[in-house]
Amino acid sequence: MKNENLKGAKEMKISKRAQAVPASATIAVNSRAKELEAQGVDVIRFAAGEPDFDTPDYIKDAAVEALKAGKTKYTATPGVIELRTAIADKLQKENGLRYTPEQVIVNIGGKHSVYESMQAVLDPGNEVILPIPYWVTYPETIKLAGATPKIIQTDKNNSYKITPSQLKEAITEKTAMLVINSPNNPGGFTYTPEELAGLAKVLEGTNVCVLSDEIYEKFIYGDTRFVSFASLSKDSYNRTLTINGFSKTFSMTGWRLGYTAGPVEVIKAMARLQSHMTQNAVAFAQEAAIAALCDSDDEAIENIRIEFERRGKYMAQRLNNIEGVACPEPTGAFYCFPDVSSHYGRNINGARINASCDFAKALLEQANVALVPGEPFGCDNNVRLSFACSLEQITKGLDRLEKWLSQ
Ligand code: PMP
Repeated sequence: MKNENLKGAKEMKISKRAQAVPASATIAVNSRAKELEAQGVDVIRFAAGEPDFDTPDYIKDAAVEALKAGKTKYTATPGVIELRTAIADKLQKENGLRYTPEQVIVNIGGKHSVYESMQAVLDPGNEVILPIPYWVTYPETIKLAGATPKIIQTDKNNSYKITPSQLKEAITEKTAMLVINSPNNPGGFTYTPEELAGLAKVLEGTNVCVLSDEIYEKFIYGDTRFVSFASLSKDSYNRTLTINGFSKTFSMTGWRLGYTAGPVEVIKAMARLQSHMTQNAVAFAQEAAIAALCDSDDEAIENIRIEFERRGKYMAQRLNNIEGVACPEPTGAFYCFPDVSSHYGRNINGARINASCDFAKALLEQANVALVPGEPFGCDNNVRLSFACSLEQITKGLDRLEKWLSQ
């Protein structure tokens, strides 16, 4: 029998698993924007998924101090106990959630929290209910865990939120998880406490767990109130994995710090997986995270929230003034998610616009404005504009968009 492995070097094979994963759509837009910038083009970027503020100095100082003090070694897999305690305290004080430090694991960014928690609780054959629009990472992490996303079409007249009756209808014997992301990326909407309570009620008596991604909790606008899904009732507490992190609240995207809180057995399972995948979050970054929580400057966070609110209001207002563009005012996160589909079928300067990707591509090439198409978020009628950039940039970019569409 011939042994294929002895025939000599061939091109290295890529696993089926890796082949099935597409590159992130937001990264593709940003790369093309960077290419244009390198050619000297002045691009207005509405594609960013991170705050345009720097990490506060008190957090940076804590990291420097920790480095100098030799916090440069492995730590306990789920994170140092002081950080897990600080997170448990934060969750109790701000979210009304009683978790012990053993119920908390620190992960390498919220993205890792999502990946690892799905690896810990999902099996092949399981279904995960995922309302549209969804953050691009969820369907991929669901599939990487061997499970299947069950995509639920939502109604724009209900601000794209899943309703209790839609949820009830979607649950089958295969349903293992519901993903709730409020405030929402890309939708810029936030579920009210009553809406979440309605969903929690449907889940009672089922085996469905909830992944509640609360990473944008601090950025809510108008009279919006934020509640953690797990705080709704004892039942919701027992079935929820609460995911949060430092990237958005403290402008720490590059530090890679996220966390998960939930039933102790799930957290232990995540720690077992993490001990073979990444081990612990960076030791001195964990020390900085303790400072972020314990010396938290609430006023600075509030000032950022106010600034985002001002920008979001302005952006939505300008978008709604453009013919054929409809945008609900954002109630959370830092995104506007307008429906631009009434422009589909048009030809703008020789570019046929039939879908959100055509729209984003032509806008970037012709008017040098970078935004993200809605298609990878499950909503091809929409595009996502981030307002994590200055009001001046927003004004300039929207002037360009308005002019481009009015041709
Ligand atoms: N959840 C959502 C909904 C997000 O938008 C992001 C960042 N884009 C994350 C989680 C993860 O953030 P990080 O990995 O930087 O903590």
